[in-house]
Amino acid sequence: MTAVRLDGKALAEQIQREVAAEAGAFRARTGVTPCLAAVLIGDDPASEVYVRNKRRDCERARLASQLHRYATISEAELLTLVTRLNADPGVHGILVQLPLPSGIHTQRVLEAVDPRKDVDAFHPENVGRIVQGQPRFLPCTPYGVLELLKRNEVALAGAHAVVIGRSDIVGKPLANMLVQRGVDATVTVCHSRTRNLAEITRQADVLIAAIGQARFVTGVMVRPGAVVIDVGINRTEDGLVGDVDYEGVSAVASMITPVPGGVGPLTRAMLLKNTLSAAEMLVGEEPGARSQEPGVRS
Ligand code: NDP
Repeated sequence: MTAVRLDGKALAEQIQREVAAEAGAFRARTGVTPCLAAVLIGDDPASEVYVRNKRRDCERARLASQLHRYATISEAELLTLVTRLNADPGVHGILVQLPLPSGIHTQRVLEAVDPRKDVDAFHPENVGRIVQGQPRFLPCTPYGVLELLKRNEVALAGAHAVVIGRSDIVGKPLANMLVQRGVDATVTVCHSRTRNLAEITRQADVLIAAIGQARFVTGVMVRPGAVVIDVGINRTEDGLVGDVDYEGVSAVASMITPVPGGVGPLTRAMLLKNTLSAAEMLVGEEPGARSQEPGVRS
């Protein structure tokens, strides 16, 4: 079997166009341009690239963006900045790029963001809402994974989804989202202490790797015909590779995401969707309620 390659880049571009159309309609109705404020502290080169790309995406989707950039800043000053952005009616989404420099208490900063502007869905209120099945926002990477599965018509109801990884950013929220009523997957979450990992992964109809170890998932760990989603981004001598051995697993799986060009672009596209939803909610509209386009909202 040679797996179908799920093209995350093309889907992300489609979502970007959908957001652009919807943002244009929203602006026509309300006079408001959805705006994302990005906060970048320090000089981490990867973070710089991420923030630059996110702002460029906003431009393409006809959303406004702001950059609040500091080489150094105290935690108190950062909290003051977040408070100011919370109160600014022209800002609808706030993104604090992680990691923050040591000395700044990350959780305190994330909890200071107004949950209504928390487009990364890291605030405990938003995490709690996801667990309860009443999400305000979905975190961008798990949201991108679900959207990819949905738009490629992968049947999740009753399917066994195995998630490798239990981080707060990917594994845990994704597992929570997959098990919700309406999605209805049967979910197993694995981590570094899981015994007999390959035995479990071989039971998966949908296998999602969010580990951070290059080419960790090999063909023998995959059930023939399974759908394999690779969230991993690992910088190696061969360039960027995922957590999945693409060649080996492609010979076994029915569908697979590449790295790059899989989940990564979708993560960015979902940030745009969340920023638009934040603006809609802040001006008192139901997200996507007036959209005439099928499939624009999920
Ligand atoms: P974390 O390091 O926070 O979590 C990794 C998880 O993998 C942990 O739960 C860990 O288990 C588990 N793990 C590590 N080694 C093993 C092992 N040998 N067997 C089973 N489980 C293992 O990473 P993130 O969740 O933040 O990110 C995961 C990957 O996804 C990274 O490559 C990251 O770069 C990428 N990523 C990609 C994004 C995208 O947009 N495509 C966005 C975010 C992340 P334990 O908890 O026991 O330590």
